[in-house]
Amino acid sequence: MDTAPASKDQAGVSVSYDDVVAWVRAFAAQVEANKEYLTELDAAIGDADHGINMNRGMSAVAGKLDEPARDQDIGALLKTVGMTLVSSVGGAAGPLYGTLFLQMGTAAAGKSELGPDDWAAALEAGIKGVEARGKAEPGDKTMLDALLPGLQALKSALDGGASFEDALTASAEAAGQGMRDTIPLVARKGRASYLGERSAGHQDPGATSSHMLLETAAATWGGGGESRPEG
Ligand code: ADP
Ligand code: MG
Repeated sequence: MDTAPASKDQAGVSVSYDDVVAWVRAFAAQVEANKEYLTELDAAIGDADHGINMNRGMSAVAGKLDEPARDQDIGALLKTVGMTLVSSVGGAAGPLYGTLFLQMGTAAAGKSELGPDDWAAALEAGIKGVEARGKAEPGDKTMLDALLPGLQALKSALDGGASFEDALTASAEAAGQGMRDTIPLVARKGRASYLGERSAGHQDPGATSSHMLLETAAATWGGGGESRPEG
């Protein structure tokens, strides 16, 4: 972990189109590496396919990323990711992650760089899309229980004057806490809700993949990320 010298300003003040591609690739790699883990979590309270679903979708996305970028439009890139997820993943998570990326793409339309506030706005728009589509609320034991604390922590860190890098770290940590906090919850949305009280005592698979999403953003865009073409 200490091969790349991390410096405070390595994260810069914004992320480029290539940085966003690197993040999406890192998320795809993380999903692939944790495919079985995500599926095991879903076996406990669902139908044992979350890792399979997410990996199918993110592999399809990774294939699309090899196509040359037309005009460095991050919004268009994120929309392609969203549409690919919607069309390649069944179940609840495909449309929900698809909506997340589609709405992030709409928020980032035409931008070739995202500053901290742009990232916060895109993430917020994506999360609002998930809420509108899935009608889940905080505490329902879903992916929102990682995403919402992640967004909250990002915004309060930025409001408090934190660097982009530190805000990303705070966001990932809060998402991780939110993920762990799903363990005692009784599911009120999705398949896990069919189990009622028996869903308590298990970590939500979607919250776990959503933590990975914000964690890979922090790792890719924060100091020490191997992907930054710093010049
Ligand atoms: P399925 O439940 O159709 O098998 P997955 O297993 O891929 O789909 O995804 C399950 C995850 O989807 C859950 O762990 C939960 O986080 C998330 N989820 C399910 N329903 C909702 C919803 N209405 N709103 C937000 N997230 C949801
Ligand atoms: Mg499932």
